[in-house]
Amino acid sequence: MASALTGLIHHPYTPPTGFGAPQPGVFKASTVFFPNVAAMRSFDWKDKTAYTYGLHGTPTTYTLEERLCTLEGGIQCLLVPSGLAAIATVCLALLHAGDEVLIPDNAYGPNKTLAEGELRHWGIGHRFYDPLQPHDLAGKINTHTKLVWLEAAGSVTLEFPDLCEQVRICKAAGVLCALDNTWGAGLAFHPFDLKPTQQPALAVDISIHALTKYPSGGGDVLMGSVITTDEALHMKLKLCHMRLGLGVGANDAELLLRSLPSLALRYRAHDESTRALAHWCLSRPEFAQVLHPALAESPGHAHWLSLCGEAIGRAAGLFSVIFQDNIGQPQVDAFCNALKLFKIGYSWGGPISLVMPYELKTMRQAWPSHLKHGILVRFSVGLESVADLQTDLQQALAAALQTDG
Ligand SMILES: *Cc1c(COP(=O)(O)O)cnc(C)c1O
Repeated sequence: MASALTGLIHHPYTPPTGFGAPQPGVFKASTVFFPNVAAMRSFDWKDKTAYTYGLHGTPTTYTLEERLCTLEGGIQCLLVPSGLAAIATVCLALLHAGDEVLIPDNAYGPNKTLAEGELRHWGIGHRFYDPLQPHDLAGKINTHTKLVWLEAAGSVTLEFPDLCEQVRICKAAGVLCALDNTWGAGLAFHPFDLKPTQQPALAVDISIHALTKYPSGGGDVLMGSVITTDEALHMKLKLCHMRLGLGVGANDAELLLRSLPSLALRYRAHDESTRALAHWCLSRPEFAQVLHPALAESPGHAHWLSLCGEAIGRAAGLFSVIFQDNIGQPQVDAFCNALKLFKIGYSWGGPISLVMPYELKTMRQAWPSHLKHGILVRFSVGLESVADLQTDLQQALAAALQTDG
């Protein structure tokens, strides 16, 4: 008879099988047991029908990967610890010294910073292209170009590019294209079937997604995914992912599995409130420009309309305003400070509305000609009552700018 000490470690009890409940079980492991040595030798960590080590997959992470493939219309998925790690994994897996990557000038800032930092140190070049001028992208592709990043809508300024034309340009040049699909979230459009009436499908090669945003929905999880439809390309990414030792925690995967069923409902609610507030801001004299792809006057609106259609649920919860040029930084800062429901903070996708002033001058090659001059503030609209959010914007404008609201 084993001692209690051993008995508590090697306990003979196994619970009955057949347990069913709304959420899948959460499996946590570094070590995974093999039934015998022969099995240990024969199991391949790349084979998803078996388990080898926690870093290479558990029932929990495999389940999340499959559901994310369903969301985005992909076939294979890798999970990484953040959206930025997804961008980095794609770059590190596909680029070598002497190669060049093309990035839209309105890309998520850290994507550009990675190119200016580590990629440059390792002899990988980069250039930024104008997201609203497909001929600028076409003209910058050369024999060194091995990867083109796409983003729709762009970060902070929310210009919507002609994504279909950009993908066609990459395909014609034989260059891989990777979409940062965080804004679309797999809901606004289909990254692997951009023109559902067209055969063969017009598709990006890779879709990365900051699950940190809408799929989490709580402002409390950091995670990213890299989704593909091509097995050989997936294996290239997976080898890099394995060599870098990237993985995600089971409790974070659990939170994602808990949040995914409500993703489309939340995304739709964010979208509906955001359009209402963006329209209200159009009527306010303090703003020189309101940026949201569903507004007719917003840059790239026609591309958004043709790709996504105008139905509610096909635009995320972000919009930006550019204040009139005579409104200075102290007043804009006072406006942000005066907001009560909108908190000052990075990221988005959670229930709490957020505000962030940006120094656009430092973020672009040059001030884009389609943008008015003035200080830019971005809003991430949460799930609060839209009437309360509008009242908050109104009182903060009045407090900061001494207007009567
Ligand atoms: C937030 C964000 C990321 C990065 O996600 P993290 O999980 O915060 O690293 C990447 N792309 C876009 C467009 C984002 O908004």
